[in-house]
Amino acid sequence: MKKKIAILGSTGSIGRSTLSIVEKDRKKFQVVLLSANSNYSKIIKQIKKFKPKFFVINNQDVYKKIKKKHKKNKIKIYNNFEDLKFKILKLDITISAIVGIAGLEPTIRFAKISKKILLANKETIICGWHILKRICKNNKTSIVPIDSEHFSINELTRNYKNEDIDKIFITGSGGPFLRKPLKKFKNIKVSEAVKHPNWQMGKKISVDSSTMMNKVLEVIEAMKLFPFDEEKYEIIIHPQSLVHAIVFFKNGQTKLLYHETDMKIPIANALYKNDINIKKILKIKSNFLMKNTDLKFELVDKKKFPIVTFLTKKIYKHSGSIILNASNEVLVNEFLKRKIPFNFIYPSLKRVFKDQDFKKYAIRRSPNIKEIYSIDSWARNKTLSIIKNNK
Ligand code: NAD
Ligand code: MG
Repeated sequence: MKKKIAILGSTGSIGRSTLSIVEKDRKKFQVVLLSANSNYSKIIKQIKKFKPKFFVINNQDVYKKIKKKHKKNKIKIYNNFEDLKFKILKLDITISAIVGIAGLEPTIRFAKISKKILLANKETIICGWHILKRICKNNKTSIVPIDSEHFSINELTRNYKNEDIDKIFITGSGGPFLRKPLKKFKNIKVSEAVKHPNWQMGKKISVDSSTMMNKVLEVIEAMKLFPFDEEKYEIIIHPQSLVHAIVFFKNGQTKLLYHETDMKIPIANALYKNDINIKKILKIKSNFLMKNTDLKFELVDKKKFPIVTFLTKKIYKHSGSIILNASNEVLVNEFLKRKIPFNFIYPSLKRVFKDQDFKKYAIRRSPNIKEIYSIDSWARNKTLSIIKNNK
């Protein structure tokens, strides 16, 4: 039987990587549902190529255009997930790869009808992990994190207990500005910030990699996904992006996970059950010993990347991370729209955390969806007002 799959965010970087694996193994997978925001030409191409039964298109104009174009076809096109009204009964796998807080509700919805969730959407973990975890437990849905660092930590620690582990290092490349002198940071252009040296990713996560916010979010995600003592987590710079996580064990051993800089490797490992030659399917020529023996690791320069200092209990405990995530999303979007300079991101976040109302929202424990949105929306409005008052 073919595995029935849904991809939330199918036109994005993770979505396309997943489809490129599915394309190579059509006998194994049936694409039941795809979803995207507004990329008209990619949506048209994906409908033609993968013939999904359902396509959810978030952008109103694009939705109308595509619906009109396909009105005589069998495919059902919707403008939002609510209209789907559980027309899909059961799925084997859902890939959660929408960018931003928009990914939270669809992921929770699909956790109820899927056997397995491949989780890329950060915001679901940062803001709603406690909700997703409960729903998956109740529905016997398994979750596989597919961000390379979390995929690696999962592989490295799954047979160990908290007391076996000394340290868990999450590696970060340091992004495009690792070697850029600090005094040149104020003139950073959007085109420079989105140019990641090793990974091909969406714009938002690429900017987050350039400020190192991506690592801060990843550590918070790891704390939620793998609840070992929080102090055990640390960020380490590894410019080659070949080792994705390192674990020091109390028995004196150190284990690390190495794979080529290609998200298709964790995605394919999560899609299949170790029963397939993934190297052959993906045509990976990994020649670890011959090519990359000189692996480099270094400490984070906190002067250059002060955002890493946000990894404090005030932020990662309770709802502080929802605020961090929302404010950062606003700032990155404004930077991408060229409305604020690059070096505005860190001080603006600091101002949000110093706001008199921060505590009121940040101390909430296990908020429900409605409360998550109210915290998220406070943070967004506060950030926008800080931006406005600074101009
Ligand atoms: P992307 O920007 O390339 O793609 C995002 C997808 O979400 C697109 O299909 C887009 O159409 C859809 N989308 C955007 N806004 C939407 C909305 N309001 N409603 C519905 N759909 C919407 O992003 P990406 O790089 O593929 O990342 C996706 C998620 O995975 C993010 O949360 C990111 O942090 C995480 N992630 C990505 C990578 C990577 O290598 N790209 C690695 C780890 C984690
Ligand atoms: Mg990552």
